[in-house]
Amino acid sequence: MVATILVGMLCAHLLCFSVMFWLVSRRLHGKKMGMDIFAIGNLLLGFAYVLQLAEGAPAWSLMSVVNHTFTLASPVAYWLGAMRFFGHHVPVWRAMLAVAATYSAAQVLVQWGLGPVARHAMLSGMSALLFLAMVITVVYGVRTFAKDLYAEMVFFAALIGGICVLNALKFVKLLDDGLDALQMDGSFQLVFYIYMSSLATVLPPSIIWLVLRRLTDELRNTAARDPLTQLLNRRGLTEALQLYFNSRKAEPAHLLLVDVDHFKRINDTHGHQIGDTVLRHMAEVLRCAVRRGDLAGRIGGEEFLVICLDSDVHGVRHLAERLRAAIENQAIHTAGTAHPLHCTVTIGVSNPFAGAHAFEDAMREADAGLYRGKAAGRNRIEWPPSAHENHPTQSASTSTTRPIDTVV
Ligand code: GH3
Ligand code: MG
Ligand code: MG
Repeated sequence: MVATILVGMLCAHLLCFSVMFWLVSRRLHGKKMGMDIFAIGNLLLGFAYVLQLAEGAPAWSLMSVVNHTFTLASPVAYWLGAMRFFGHHVPVWRAMLAVAATYSAAQVLVQWGLGPVARHAMLSGMSALLFLAMVITVVYGVRTFAKDLYAEMVFFAALIGGICVLNALKFVKLLDDGLDALQMDGSFQLVFYIYMSSLATVLPPSIIWLVLRRLTDELRNTAARDPLTQLLNRRGLTEALQLYFNSRKAEPAHLLLVDVDHFKRINDTHGHQIGDTVLRHMAEVLRCAVRRGDLAGRIGGEEFLVICLDSDVHGVRHLAERLRAAIENQAIHTAGTAHPLHCTVTIGVSNPFAGAHAFEDAMREADAGLYRGKAAGRNRIEWPPSAHENHPTQSASTSTTRPIDTVV
């Protein structure tokens, strides 16, 4: 009686959460994040337990074959759903149909060749192996594609490991005690159903939590990035800077304001779309030129920002010149122009600043430098006046002069 109630509750949980997963997948539109496949997994397992209740004692019938096939197909669906959640485009329907057809045929062969105990033992053994494969995937995921979800992955591995162990024990019990091991009110089966019921209650909200985490992370990332170039926007730069200065070891930072020279001409001559292509090229050059840990962003039309962290003045000078030269030497090939385009940039550098609160002052210094650089002929690097003594080559880097660091 207790077992029947437990299995009934298990069915209700599985089927209700199947509907919830399906509703969530519909809200996620094209993306779905594997939720539709989790819904199928829950539906299959829910129906398998409904069939078990209808069937009562183990017997050789079509219902029993379908029950076993659904039971085995459900972890396959969960595994495929998890792959989809992590962005792997695995084929689902073909895999599921292949598993269902193969396992149904295997059941018939095993039942005829080895008898009912072997068929039930095969289900427990195969389930244990599938859950073991899931645990191994989760452990692998913690080290590779799911590093950001460490605590969640360890939690899942422990829970799935529990089902794996219970199925392995059931396999051994079936070989020892035969079909008696499947007595619904037997103590082992009770433990099995209690564990499965708890899991059916705990796992679905945990999966929804993963979806929520991924969505909010994506939302934060979208809010912090410029859609055209995928560089950080002003908000992203400010947040990253705050994070950096919250660390005790933070060294003063330098700010480089990079503005494309005569960009309006590119738009006017070749059109806005080519202008956008040029901006994306600029972003790529910036991404490649900055060191790991430095911040690169786009803060307006053709204005970019680089913030050098953990770097001394010498390092900043190298970076500024590397950037200026890289852009000057870059030939930008676009589909809409007969010849590659060439651009130059003017760079205004700030004094070192030691806190997120000083960001706006640093911006003003760099902007003033930029203004001077434009007035002095463009394609230059301008240092703030207070840094003049340290930078005797201030304003000396133009397209016709030697790079700043080789002059020193
Ligand atoms: P200067 O050398 O003095 O910086 O001249 P400039 O032409 O680069 O500067 P100006 O500020 O006169 O022009 C900037 C142009 O950038 C004007 C605007 O149409 C264009 N722009 C702003 N945002 C975008 C964008 O997202 N895409 C494209 N293609 N153009 C943009
Ligand atoms: Mg400009
Ligand atoms: Mg500008």
